[in-house]
Amino acid sequence: MLGNYIKLTIRSRRSNILGLIMLLLLSAGILSCKESNNKIENNTQDTPKVVITFLPVYLFTKAVTGDVADVEILVPPGTDIHDYQATPDNVKAIATANVLVKNGLGLEAFLTGTVKNAQNSKLVEIDASKSIKVINDISPVEETNEKDHKYEHTAGNPHVWLDPVFAKQQVINIRDGLITADPGNKTTYQANAAAYIQELDNLNNEFRRTLQKTPNCTFITFHDAFPYMAKRYNLKQMAVVEIPEDQLSPADVQNAINAVKKYKVKALFSEPGIDNKLLTSLSQDLQLTVYPLNSLENGETNPQYYFQAMKDNLKNLATGCK
Ligand SMILES: [Zn+2]
Repeated sequence: MLGNYIKLTIRSRRSNILGLIMLLLLSAGILSCKESNNKIENNTQDTPKVVITFLPVYLFTKAVTGDVADVEILVPPGTDIHDYQATPDNVKAIATANVLVKNGLGLEAFLTGTVKNAQNSKLVEIDASKSIKVINDISPVEETNEKDHKYEHTAGNPHVWLDPVFAKQQVINIRDGLITADPGNKTTYQANAAAYIQELDNLNNEFRRTLQKTPNCTFITFHDAFPYMAKRYNLKQMAVVEIPEDQLSPADVQNAINAVKKYKVKALFSEPGIDNKLLTSLSQDLQLTVYPLNSLENGETNPQYYFQAMKDNLKNLATGCK
């Protein structure tokens, strides 16, 4: 946020200086008014405009671009990405962008018509999940239900960013896409991505070291967002929830009770900031503590927020699995 603010200030100052020069040239009768306008427009167009669908891919993209691109988020944090409806502003943003970055895996269903309506033939699209092997089935508890919750109409579970190793692949995909779209800033993209990837490697090591102490820890979530993280670190996620995530219903509570009885469930995890009476009474009945587990679909727009939230997740996983 601060970065954006500073950038805007610098740019408007640059425009002022340019404006002053134009004015001097104009008064000397060298340039026509029309030409001076074009010059300013061209100058603005030098900075690539990158629009990003939602928070996790925004964090990764911002980490790679640093200050060399204008970045804009389409789905503001706090708005549910799973059943998001596009706005006219989204169409406008895509229409004037050079690059569009999405998570992919069917998560951004709203993009299909939106990109078409934007009619931007120069748009470069980056699918951050390219070449990531997806998990198609949802977590075990669901399969015992009569309701069919498989990701039939999408390309698998989309929550790949919650596995630091796949997050690294997403950063690499974003970096390579940006280099293709804007080769002039190649060295910046490479250096920024390398620094962020180093942090992701460290995070992965920290997860591995910590969670190898609690192998096969079985936990219940109310948002089927953690199968990749669970698979990576040898944990077992049981997701008790509708897809996309709904309010917890009495049927969900019954499913959770059944799962705790059937499997040796160690912990319950809920999204941070959710105060749900059903969940509280459920945890009391089951004598299990509820810990927050952050899916990063909501939060701060600073790229470092990923590490902050993931380290909190690790802390809560380790405590819950003890
Ligand atoms: Zn989700």
